[in-house]
Amino acid sequence: MNLLDECKEAKRIGISGHIRPDGDCVGSCLALYLYLSKNLPEASVQVFLEQPADIFKEIRGFDEIDSTFPKQEQFDVYLALDCSADRLGGAESYFTEAAKKINIDHHISNKGCGDLNVIRPEVGSVCEVLFDLMEEEKIDKDIAMALYIGIIHDTGVFQYSNTRPETLEIAAKLISFGFDFPRLIEETFYQKTYVQTQIMGRALMESIRFMDGRCIVSMIDRKTMEFYNVGTKDLDGIVNQLRNIKGVNCAIFMYETDVLEYKISMRSDEKVDVAKVASYFGGGGHMRAAGCSMKGTFHDCVNNLSLHIEKQLDGITD
Ligand code: AMP
Ligand code: MN
Ligand code: MN
Repeated sequence: MNLLDECKEAKRIGISGHIRPDGDCVGSCLALYLYLSKNLPEASVQVFLEQPADIFKEIRGFDEIDSTFPKQEQFDVYLALDCSADRLGGAESYFTEAAKKINIDHHISNKGCGDLNVIRPEVGSVCEVLFDLMEEEKIDKDIAMALYIGIIHDTGVFQYSNTRPETLEIAAKLISFGFDFPRLIEETFYQKTYVQTQIMGRALMESIRFMDGRCIVSMIDRKTMEFYNVGTKDLDGIVNQLRNIKGVNCAIFMYETDVLEYKISMRSDEKVDVAKVASYFGGGGHMRAAGCSMKGTFHDCVNNLSLHIEKQLDGITD
């Protein structure tokens, strides 16, 4: 697929990614926005996304993101990135009603929801998928930086097993544009505010190990979030920290979204396929990083998740 060919007739183009946008989602949406705006100057290109974290504001085009989801006329082409249509939030109807729908993703749980689908579960980030779909000579420094941010976020700065030789080859080409990548890594990936660190400390301190220490869970309720005056964006990174603990095969982090309702994040090693676990509860993701939403008490949720995790740890297939 050639992105520019697919969009060249379009007057109105829309781009969106998933709710609670992460680095790959913001990076890919803005990289594509910059690429299409630059190379199809006649078209109107818009990005609709839930308000991303401020750490991404250095990416060019950040201020052009529309988080209000106003009523729209039909789009000629709509691109859904890093998710399937059901996770587009306020942009779902823009996508489903568009004349041409293009879905670009790397989630193993996504079967493709567009007229055209590029779903590559073997690739670490949508930004790499996009790089392969772009004409290299048409990439500029701003586009390169946006793609790079997505790649470092979804590969954990090239640490996770989804990092391929090609990932590093793409990254090498991107950094040759000369943006300040050490600072970007520091400021968007590692740096935390004081309260973010405090609430992480709290979550780590209150974590509970089970299944002989092979699983660990921690939960932050709404009262605690109010006490520290933090939002859900401030909880990023907690689940990875839980996963770092020696002996842990599967880490679960959950935060309360409503009464008896939680957002679940899971991280694992090769012993557990958390995308499969999440799929039983209507969620999805990747083998080693996945999520879902669940209803019930904290203990109900943990018990239901554990049932599926334990089966995998015991090598029981179904
Ligand atoms: P999280 O733990 O929310 O950061 O998500 C880990 C991975 O799973 C990311 O790639 C998410 O996009 C994906 N993911 C999280 N929640 C869901 C869901 N409900 N459905 C499909 N994929 C999800
Ligand atoms: Mn994502
Ligand atoms: Mn992604």
